[in-house]
Amino acid sequence: MSIQQNIKNILQSIPNTVSLVAVSKTKPIASIEDAYACGQRIFGENKVQEMVDKHQQLPKDISWHMIGHVQRNKIKYMASFVDLIHGVDSIKTLLEIEKQAKRHERVISCLLQIKIAEEDSKFGLSEEEATKILTDTCPTLEHVSVVGFMGMATFTKNIAQIQGEFSKLNTYFNHSKATFPQLQELSMGMSGDYAVAIDQGSTMIRVGSSIFGHRNYT
Ligand SMILES: *Cc1c(COP(=O)(O)O)cnc(C)c1O
Repeated sequence: MSIQQNIKNILQSIPNTVSLVAVSKTKPIASIEDAYACGQRIFGENKVQEMVDKHQQLPKDISWHMIGHVQRNKIKYMASFVDLIHGVDSIKTLLEIEKQAKRHERVISCLLQIKIAEEDSKFGLSEEEATKILTDTCPTLEHVSVVGFMGMATFTKNIAQIQGEFSKLNTYFNHSKATFPQLQELSMGMSGDYAVAIDQGSTMIRVGSSIFGHRNYT
């Protein structure tokens, strides 16, 4: 199946209120151009240098999302153009984004990554930590706008477990929105689980291999 056909199939199967982030990490420029040609404009990368290189070579109306874990010393390289940073999970990272966004006179939108998987993941905030950041830190930031949450379910074939993890994050998202109306986006769902994620309230799915095929890591 072609990249363009894959995108059409996904868009036909999801509500038009859900955004599709095409995860192009490790994929060549030609593959992104192919997706771009059928109207796809949001692309996700997990390495800053790779995203910078692709941003330089591709049309400027692409919206670039950083979906990987953010290394603080790399934020400066993407601060001039990144549209949304999905994986923010510390105050230190927020403060560095604030500093770099200010240099470029921008406001950078971010999502707080919430730990929902059962498996021991290094990354992600607890609900309590996220609420504290929204209450204490976010009001002090002028160049960062936290617009929602991101979560990754456990890597498992157990659909009920994935459903439960996404559902818990959705409950927390809806609860938080009442106090923090700037929260609009819930980024959850990848190639294997985006249908489940949308059922559980996802507003943004991050899909790589179902669009571009399997990745070969070197
Ligand atoms: C690679 C990646 C994806 C896409 O994964 P696929 O299974 O290929 O759709 C989504 N989110 C994050 C954070 C990723 O690193």
